[in-house]
Amino acid sequence: MPHSSVLAYLGNPLDRCANQRSDEAWLTSLLHQPTTRHIHMSGDKTFIRDGNLQTFESASAPECVLLGVDADGSGWFASPAQADDNLMDLRSLAVAGTLPQSELAILAQARSLLHWHERHGFCANCGVKTEMRDAGYRRHCAACATDHFPRTDPVIIIAVRHESRMLLGRQSAWPDGMYSTLAGFMEPGETIEEAARREVFEESGIRVGEIQFHANQPWPFPSSLMIGLVGEALSDDIVVDPKELETARWFERDEVQSMLDRTHPQGLNAPLPLAIAHHLIRACLD
Ligand SMILES: [Zn+2]
Repeated sequence: MPHSSVLAYLGNPLDRCANQRSDEAWLTSLLHQPTTRHIHMSGDKTFIRDGNLQTFESASAPECVLLGVDADGSGWFASPAQADDNLMDLRSLAVAGTLPQSELAILAQARSLLHWHERHGFCANCGVKTEMRDAGYRRHCAACATDHFPRTDPVIIIAVRHESRMLLGRQSAWPDGMYSTLAGFMEPGETIEEAARREVFEESGIRVGEIQFHANQPWPFPSSLMIGLVGEALSDDIVVDPKELETARWFERDEVQSMLDRTHPQGLNAPLPLAIAHHLIRACLD
């Protein structure tokens, strides 16, 4: 099965122009340059033509967000698409590996930003309609003078090992045979390490000691940041929380390798390389 071997949604090449994007004259001028490109998205889907990302000369809605300016000086914008036909979703595009990494990363940015705007048209403080500002990096409520900023949700994801074994679990909604590293949203007031230890204990009953940062990944479903960690277990007696996981268990290295390679005799498998879990598991094997 051919698929990309690279961690997806990384390598966004655009200059986000954070110091200029509140300048309305600059923004209007950029919008009217002949080289400016518009991405149209519906949810996490966009237009693909002959395997290439299709961009347009104008926005598809009254509000569009600035993604940034590329190395040639061309502006990139995104707006919500009206049509839902002939579109491809970000996950399928990452698995297919046909688009350049840089364009997948730009699409991830667009999807997360547009998703936030679609759900924050009204002030969370007073309920009045808000207006887009700073080319999409702020919404302002004129009624109560509150500013609202696009959110990113940090998620810890951790490969836990105990001697030669690795802890992997599965959720019942996942495809048959798929096991992965444990993960969960961070909560207010937590450090990354505290969130990781809490999640692993809640889901599996395992206590984690030392934790090392491995890698991170924007995950546009809809707007997470996956914080990839490797942790050392202090215990090995698993108690699964059935509300969170269908099952969890320890896997020996050879078995994990065959799950990554998709040669496991019982058909068990691990996530594809587009996801950070794949790389965390591989890092543990190495
Ligand atoms: Zn308000």
